[in-house]
Amino acid sequence: PKGAVFLHKGYEGSKARYQEAVRLIPGGVNSPVRAFRSVEMNPVYIERGEGSRVFDVDGNEYIDYLCSWGPLILGHAHPKVVEAVQETARRGTSFGLPTELETEMAREVVQRVPSVEVVRMVNSGTEATMSALRLARAYTRRDKILKFEGCYHGHADSLLIKAGSGVATLGLPDSPGVTEGTARHTLTVPYNDLDSVEWVFQKFGDDIAAVIVEPVAGNMGVVPPKPGFLQGLRRITSDYGALLIFDEVMTGFRVDYHSAQGRFQVMPDLTTMGKVIGGGLPVGAYGGRREIMEMIAPAGPVYQAGTLSGNPLAMAAGLATLRELRPEVYEELERKAARLEEGLRRNAEEAGIPHQINRVGSMITLFFTGEPVTNYDGARSSDAKRFARYFRLMLEEGVFVPPSQFEGMFVSAAHSMEDIERTIEANRNALKRL
Ligand code: PLP
Repeated sequence: PKGAVFLHKGYEGSKARYQEAVRLIPGGVNSPVRAFRSVEMNPVYIERGEGSRVFDVDGNEYIDYLCSWGPLILGHAHPKVVEAVQETARRGTSFGLPTELETEMAREVVQRVPSVEVVRMVNSGTEATMSALRLARAYTRRDKILKFEGCYHGHADSLLIKAGSGVATLGLPDSPGVTEGTARHTLTVPYNDLDSVEWVFQKFGDDIAAVIVEPVAGNMGVVPPKPGFLQGLRRITSDYGALLIFDEVMTGFRVDYHSAQGRFQVMPDLTTMGKVIGGGLPVGAYGGRREIMEMIAPAGPVYQAGTLSGNPLAMAAGLATLRELRPEVYEELERKAARLEEGLRRNAEEAGIPHQINRVGSMITLFFTGEPVTNYDGARSSDAKRFARYFRLMLEEGVFVPPSQFEGMFVSAAHSMEDIERTIEANRNALKRL
């Protein structure tokens, strides 16, 4: 049939590699979601990527919307990024001493991200959020933080917390190994719920160092901020002398040339970044107002360091990526993603399948639920079994969507309009066979 352009060759090679890996690596993978448990299959082992495509070890080819969970906004092995890494590597891979590339990167970030005056590079998004919280606590001399249910900010102890029952309760550890003492300082409320934020501040306002938020949630599937939500957070945190931290690890340089804060015109005090800024190499960053950032060592007393921070290869890959990301690239991403959204919606309507499609720029999630998805409870009303079947059918159709209902698809500059049309066709076939 039209659309089924790939001959599927099975997963035997992937299966063999996974069986070997589980003997040597916990669960066979170096990050849990790669194990594909929620879609009830073995992980697919990738051999290489090129542009919008990835190729697995069994010789299957896929149009890839995982894009390494966000970093690859230019697609796989973009020639400028590969060249920058090769050129840089020839002169040495790490020095533990300053290089000019770090200043160039800082300049690029400060120019693009409206609220950032000073920026420190780290090695992952987790490090960025963990360090930003330490800084916020030091600056405000307060202990508590407020986060939102379903927002993921990496795996630092104080961020692996979920709320108990009720509008807002003291946090409970989400993972063994996180102490109750740590969890006690993390408050959690539903996303997009300003009333709950007000309530928590009325109760604990003098103890709250910061509110940390994904300005567009991407880790419960894509959930846009309701109009006024981010502005409300800005107002409440300012009223109580708490800091507002935008976790732009996913949205930074993804949803707008000026990141989410530019798109929504709300200025946080601190911003965390990662993913796109590293062009596919391990990178994170945190930045913000000079007066706050200059509390970090050696300018100030708040300690934070890293053997490989500002690594030349990572800076080169990140800079090459940012330099390709001119404003017109975002217009093109918007056009392609809007067409994809429209196609997915029409297909789901035709198939009579309850659905919600949330999209902000090039981040999209198709939820299998009839309920509007504005927070984590909404996202969790999705039919996870149906999503798992959908994921496997899409793989057979030659399209790689994220192996979880609670993640977004990423459209990249490498996706052609033809890729988008082929994806819509694949989606239509998959929905028919669900
Ligand atoms: N913050 C957000 C919004 C993220 O999406 C992620 C990763 O998915 C992180 C933080 C953690 O980043 P990393 O996986 O690089 O530690």
